[in-house]
Amino acid sequence: MKNFEQSVDAYKEAVELMPGGVNSPVRAFKSVGMNPIFMERGKGSKIFDIDGNEYIDYVLSWGPLILGHADERVVSKLKTVTENGTSFGAPTLIENKLANLLIERVPSIEMVRMVNSGTEATMSALRLARGYTGRDKILKFEGNYHGHGDSLLIKAGSGVATLGLPDSPGVPESIAKNTITVPYNDMESVDYAFEQFGDDLAAVIVEPVSGNMGVVPPNNDFLQKLRDITEQHGTVLIFDEVMTGFRVGYNCAQGHFGVTPDLTCLGKVIGGGLPVGAYGGKREIMEKVAPTGDIYQAGTLSGNPLAMTAGYETLVAMTPEEYDQINAKVDRLVDGYKSAAEEFNIPLQVNRAGSMVGFFFNENEVINYQSASESNLEHFASYYRMMIEEGIFLPPSQFEGTFLSTAHTDSDIEKTIEAARKAFKRITS
Ligand code: PMP
Repeated sequence: MKNFEQSVDAYKEAVELMPGGVNSPVRAFKSVGMNPIFMERGKGSKIFDIDGNEYIDYVLSWGPLILGHADERVVSKLKTVTENGTSFGAPTLIENKLANLLIERVPSIEMVRMVNSGTEATMSALRLARGYTGRDKILKFEGNYHGHGDSLLIKAGSGVATLGLPDSPGVPESIAKNTITVPYNDMESVDYAFEQFGDDLAAVIVEPVSGNMGVVPPNNDFLQKLRDITEQHGTVLIFDEVMTGFRVGYNCAQGHFGVTPDLTCLGKVIGGGLPVGAYGGKREIMEKVAPTGDIYQAGTLSGNPLAMTAGYETLVAMTPEEYDQINAKVDRLVDGYKSAAEEFNIPLQVNRAGSMVGFFFNENEVINYQSASESNLEHFASYYRMMIEEGIFLPPSQFEGTFLSTAHTDSDIEKTIEAARKAFKRITS
């Protein structure tokens, strides 16, 4: 058994200092019945906790570290930038460089604004869509997460296309009622929502591959149909690519699926592990943002040189060949999991888009929040704890994606599959 003594002590101290001992709820490991593990350092595909335990890391800071931990190219540039001053509150050339790269690679982006998190990106994109259209209502999908802004922290009410309900105390009902929520991958409900609210809808916001109910890809022509219906109604289509951006592929999910939204939100990979978000899209819409336009949005540390550098170096390193290589590793991992599950008769569903992969302990295909929530959470929690013992660090929830980096080796993949085999065997015995 691994020793977690130092983590246990650190957690005891932390719970007195921070709510739940953490600065973001999922880090508390609640759904897998464990105490949080405190990390000390990372290198490549490995992370090391404060008790000296080593893990192969498939969380990768929840997606950003597509090159793995402490990549030399990123770290050496960061050292130079740090020595020259960490923030100026005035424009710097690295902002132009990253902006140029985003415009070049993301089909929908003609202009972009940098912010500090994915939450800021989605909140700002919504304000822009509302300001641009002069409408208040928005449509989102059940099980999609877009950060913790008031308009987006909304759960579905009962019924097909429902006025949303606050998903947290503190979100006013008056705001929640402007968010319409429908099931993911369900065009009939979208059509119905447009019949009811069409010309009042400022925006449809969607994760082009959902990564926050586990991984759920869009079915056949779901994204194209969203494109068509939003165009018909003068509604702004927003792809929240905070997770999928530069993860699903070289040109993001929109390049992968060949559907171009009006606005795109980015985060995670574009900051290479530093705090970054961005939103961008059609020039005509983006020019409404202050100071060109009158829709206000600002940030003391937005475009921060360290964050821009980490993001830029990461994206430059991610050539199309690197995506092919990560995808080949994911293929091996998925094949290994599938045969291990078959061997021990474990009902396992595997959903996949590029190097985003979701394993569900579920008898049936997972296509939306309803089907995802029918997964066997007890199996997941046992599997999770056994994987930790085997030195495999996975996201501590059935409803999160598993990520790979360019630093993961064939031997990492083999070890992970072997660990999963052992876990599956013990679950069934
Ligand atoms: N959108 C999506 C699709 C996300 O996955 C997340 C975070 N997991 C966010 C927005 C919010 O980003 P952040 O945590 O950086 O605020």
